[in-house]
Amino acid sequence: MKTIVILGAGQAGAELAFALRQNGHEDRIVLVGAERHLPYQRPPLSKAFLRGDVEQDALPIRAAETYAKAGIELDLNTTAAGIDRPTRSVLLADGRKLRYDKLALATGGRPRPLPFDTADVTSRSLHALDDAISLRHALAPGGRILIVGGGFIGLEVAAAATTMGIAVTLIEAAPRVLSRACSPAISAFVHREHCAHGVDLRTGVAVRGITRHGSTVLAELSDDTTVSADLVLTGVGIVPNDTLAADAGLAVDDGVLVDAMATTTDPDIVAAGDCTRQRHGFLDRQVRLESLQNATDQARIAARTLCGKPADPAPPPWFWSDQYHHKIRLAGLPEPDDTAVVRGDPLSDSFSVVYLRDGIITGLHTVNQPREFAAGRRLIAARKEYQTCP
Ligand SMILES: Cc1cc2nc3c(=O)[nH]c(=O)nc-3n(C[C@H](O)[C@H](O)[C@H](O)COP(=O)(O)OP(=O)(O)OC[C@H]3O[C@@H](n4cnc5c(N)ncnc54)[C@H](O)[C@@H]3O)c2cc1C
Repeated sequence: MKTIVILGAGQAGAELAFALRQNGHEDRIVLVGAERHLPYQRPPLSKAFLRGDVEQDALPIRAAETYAKAGIELDLNTTAAGIDRPTRSVLLADGRKLRYDKLALATGGRPRPLPFDTADVTSRSLHALDDAISLRHALAPGGRILIVGGGFIGLEVAAAATTMGIAVTLIEAAPRVLSRACSPAISAFVHREHCAHGVDLRTGVAVRGITRHGSTVLAELSDDTTVSADLVLTGVGIVPNDTLAADAGLAVDDGVLVDAMATTTDPDIVAAGDCTRQRHGFLDRQVRLESLQNATDQARIAARTLCGKPADPAPPPWFWSDQYHHKIRLAGLPEPDDTAVVRGDPLSDSFSVVYLRDGIITGLHTVNQPREFAAGRRLIAARKEYQTCP
């Protein structure tokens, strides 16, 4: 019997396990996960779960019995400590050894730490379900939270906390929020919405240090001002969990390097999800993506590779974010020098930005435009010209 071991029981790991069965793998599958929970969806953690609109029982990607039914062995609360490629075995932190014929890495990422010592401050991040449970308990109406980082997670937490009656200060070092992911028009919209909901949002200013004074935390900013709060949440991005791969001699470069078939530099090892830096099948360039859709699609590609089947054509990447009652959706991955065309009134709460390269649509960012987004995704996938845009 041939054993496939999957390290990391998150979005990509769970998807990969079931996709292996769908592609006809009949032998042993072992899914090893460091967390104590069944594989769960992370997106609600900074949205509905934080607000208390969704409970923990709604989060699992699949029910426990579906793993048993599919013959997928779950080894939860178990951390992989090393990979010994010559003997094809995984060393587990509890001392056990797991033999594999093929191995999949789906170890995700971990929150990037702040570049200064926060030892005397309980600085939280929001990455795992246990973080979200603890943050939800700490968010008391009437309280004050300082959020460091104006990326998607920081902004989603700001929206949830404001809705719950918490005073929010959000500090972003870049000149605008969402500067890595979104067009300036979308950043400006998001900025305005947060200010309209009472968030004290400051851009172009960095946090220099954070100290605790009794029950208050005090942040010193680069413009020589200070902010006080009851708790601090940092949301300054994630670092891919690629150390296992690097220590095992696989090629890594800020993520486990994989080709468009999700294969690492060892043909018996695939990798999928946030832990990878991939040659993307649709974009035809090397990228590191952090999204639910990428984790799911790349896991399916990895499963087909492990089953000796060719991959289906890769779709363009896409992503969404919910803030207040607004839905922001991004498709494609435009390059910095692509031309941006704003469609509709960017001062309203429904507009889009289309990105073009040589007349071909390469990206679409929308605010509250579900139909335009669905149509635009299809146009990006078909590499259509802008003239065809509805
Ligand atoms: C709060 C939050 C909100 C998000 N919102 C959105 C959204 O709105 N839209 C969107 O598209 N994406 C969103 N994302 C991103 C999306 O959830 C991730 O891209 C996706 O979960 C990545 O899946 P993954 O399997 O690669 O990693 P993960 O889901 O992070 O799973 C990796 C798992 O591997 C485990 N692991 C790591 N190392 C080891 C080891 N050595 N041994 C065993 N197990 C290990 C980890 O504990 C973890 O459980 C959000 C993420 C977060 C944290």
